[in-house]
Amino acid sequence: MKPDQDCQQCGRCCEKWGWDQKGIIDDIIPWMDKNRNDILQYVSITLKDGTRCNGRDISIENLPEVSRIDYWAEPSGRALDHCPFFHRAGDGKVFCKIHDAKPSICRSFTPWNEGIRDYALNCPACRQTTP
Ligand code: SF4
Ligand code: SF4
Repeated sequence: MKPDQDCQQCGRCCEKWGWDQKGIIDDIIPWMDKNRNDILQYVSITLKDGTRCNGRDISIENLPEVSRIDYWAEPSGRALDHCPFFHRAGDGKVFCKIHDAKPSICRSFTPWNEGIRDYALNCPACRQTTP
C-alpha cells in the first residue's frame, strides 16, 4: 500500500466483506496443525456426501472429502452475519484478533490496488486517491 493509502482501521471492509465467504483447504491445514480451535470452531465444513460439520471435527484424513468451507458460523452450525474476530478498540480503531493467522481471502484482499468501485467508495483510505 502506498503511504497515502494507509489503512485507517475503520473496519468497514471487514464489516462488509468479512463474512459469508468461501474458504480453502490451505487455510485450515495450518489451523489444524497448530490446534487453532479458537478459529476452527467458527468454520463450517461441508463434505462431498453433503454432511456438514464444524471445523474442529475435521481431521487431516478427512480433508479429501471436503467439498466446501464457509466463513463464519457458530459452533452450532448457524451462519454468522459478522466476523467473530473483528474487534473495535476503545479508540474506535478495528483490529483483527487473528491477524497472524487470518484466512487467505483476508490476506489477499487489497481493493485499493484493484479499484473495486463499491469498496473504494466506502473506504476512507481509498477515497483519498479515488476520483
Ligand atoms: S475500509 Fe479501508 S481504511 Fe477502513 S479498515 Fe478497510 S482498508 Fe482500512
Ligand atoms: S478474519 Fe480478520 S481480516 Fe478477516 S474479516 Fe475477520 S477481522 Fe477482518
